[in-house]
Amino acid sequence: MIEFKKVSKVYGDGTTALKDITLSVKKGEFLFLVGPSGSGKSTFIKLIIREIYATSGSILVAGRNICNLKTNRIPQLRRNIGCVFQDFKLLPNKTIFENVAFALEVIGKSGYVIKVQVPQVLQLVGLHNKMKSYPYQLSGGEQQRVSIARAFVNRPPVLLADEPTGNLDPVTSDGIMKLLSRISLVGTTVIMATHNRSVVNSMRRRVVELERGEIVRDQKRGVYGS
Ligand code: ADP
Repeated sequence: MIEFKKVSKVYGDGTTALKDITLSVKKGEFLFLVGPSGSGKSTFIKLIIREIYATSGSILVAGRNICNLKTNRIPQLRRNIGCVFQDFKLLPNKTIFENVAFALEVIGKSGYVIKVQVPQVLQLVGLHNKMKSYPYQLSGGEQQRVSIARAFVNRPPVLLADEPTGNLDPVTSDGIMKLLSRISLVGTTVIMATHNRSVVNSMRRRVVELERGEIVRDQKRGVYGS
């Protein structure tokens, strides 16, 4: 589903953020990307959505080399990749329904599709009874569920999560992890960058550890320190 072949990223100021990364992630796989701050996790994620370019190497997403993708093809790439962030990024003046619907509106889905798919995905994340609420009326965990619903409403084959439990307490984080786990079980490839050791340790999924831009560990059912 996602393949990095000898990928390096050197930023404009000469900082090498990733060095010679070769890695492949299968359909439906759940992968934790771990490592200290500055080790290259966000750079890895930004490369997949073509927010930034690789300096060398190639990156395949669903069999397609995205490094030479024309700019006008990038929106199409991003339709296949849902993104979840630490700070939720919900629109404060829109209801929960409207926040999720917006993700479908921008890709030109019809009102009918929106009316069917939005309640379905809100049901999946357990928030169909909060459709008319606004983000400020929800807890942090609930807001993160909405952002997962928004990322997943178009059923993308890939879901990227950058520190999705960063602002949440352990019990709430646990619920978010169960949800992401369920999403991967239906065949979605999930890549989650995190510092959260207890989350990684409780899941026993594949762990790829970065250190100064290099892969120092790739373990099938890994843990992340103590
Ligand atoms: P992480 O997500 O693991 O904290 P990053 O991918 O953000 O790591 O950063 C990896 C390295 O690249 C760090 O040394 C960081 O300072 C550097 N870096 C990140 N973004 C930029 C940028 N836009 N320009 C220059 N250096 C950057």
